[in-house]
Amino acid sequence: MSHDVKLPVLTGMTPEEVRELVVGLGERPFRGDQVFRAVWKDGQTYPEAMTTLSKELRGRLKAAVTPTATTVVEQETSDDGTTKWLLGLADGARVETVLIPEGDRATVCVSTQVGCPIRCVFCASGVRGLLRNLTTAEIAEQVLRVQQHLRARPTNIVVMGMGEPLLNLTALAAAIRLWEHEAGMDFGARRITVSTAGTAPMIDRLVEQDLGVHLAVSLHGPDDATRRRLIPTSPEGRVTDLVEAATRFARKTGRDVTVEYVLVAGENDSAEHAETLGRLLTGRHIHVNLIPLNPVAHRPDLHAPTGLASRAFARRLEELGVPTRLRTQRGDDIHAACGQLALERAVSGPASPQPRAP
Ligand code: SAH
Repeated sequence: MSHDVKLPVLTGMTPEEVRELVVGLGERPFRGDQVFRAVWKDGQTYPEAMTTLSKELRGRLKAAVTPTATTVVEQETSDDGTTKWLLGLADGARVETVLIPEGDRATVCVSTQVGCPIRCVFCASGVRGLLRNLTTAEIAEQVLRVQQHLRARPTNIVVMGMGEPLLNLTALAAAIRLWEHEAGMDFGARRITVSTAGTAPMIDRLVEQDLGVHLAVSLHGPDDATRRRLIPTSPEGRVTDLVEAATRFARKTGRDVTVEYVLVAGENDSAEHAETLGRLLTGRHIHVNLIPLNPVAHRPDLHAPTGLASRAFARRLEELGVPTRLRTQRGDDIHAACGQLALERAVSGPASPQPRAP
């Protein structure tokens, strides 16, 4: 189906905007609320299928909006139940969304950019740089796609897919407000986590948005030299500034901050690194998520430490009073794990399908 690109995208509109549109079509305002509910509560994005509306309004609405900003190009499920969507965008770009089921949780991992300008050495998303920011509809719809698949609302959202969320904060904040809207998905802010490899001023700007979300900071090094080896594009700016900004976030929002630390053998995993990191973070309402490196094709020379070494690192942080979790990897076999959402796949179309377990 082709749509006039100048028509507003329904999944990117606030209830107020939908109401205004519907009034412009000669209807009473509450019809707009019905449309918003159809999209965000029922997962029904096609006006022609919104049976709460009159046939006439369905027709007029259909002519006035583009229903969605994405199409499902490919969907695959890993042996552990992790499901990945490859979504096609109007300009031909592609973006990936991942659903990670874990017990009674269903966590959606959302992308915010096509590619990424930050080049963490171990991350596939940054290899080809940034193509463009996603729009509000393109971000928000990723969760809608998962809701349509589950026929239920997912339980958690982590903004940890492709891209640097805080470099696309305006569109992201609008998407978060759509997810949270009580007339629709009614998603609780405390079940949303935004992850950043950014800077202190970027974190301060997030605080100003007052979204109520959790913050995860990708630190990867306890000192400037180590962090810049792993994130060479990170602006001059000290690790301590970043930790201060995270501490301000925790203080102002009342929410503990997660520091993400990808463990790379020989780079940031020594006893000394653990010592410095522990002393830096203790007593700050910050806990640590240790992520053993997930291998990526462009850097075959990088490895995760052994399980023994990773556990020793975690234990030292705990001894220094820093609550620490050692993460296990999910979705590895369908390249849906952290850092594997690559622009290469995202722009050149689906890779050959993976064989499925019988
Ligand atoms: N740009 C944001 C969000 C996307 S990355 C950020 O950096 O926080 C989400 C998390 O996955 C980050 O902590 C990132 O460092 C981690 N990650 C990236 N590549 C990885 C890899 N190869 N193995 C393990 N974790 C990785």
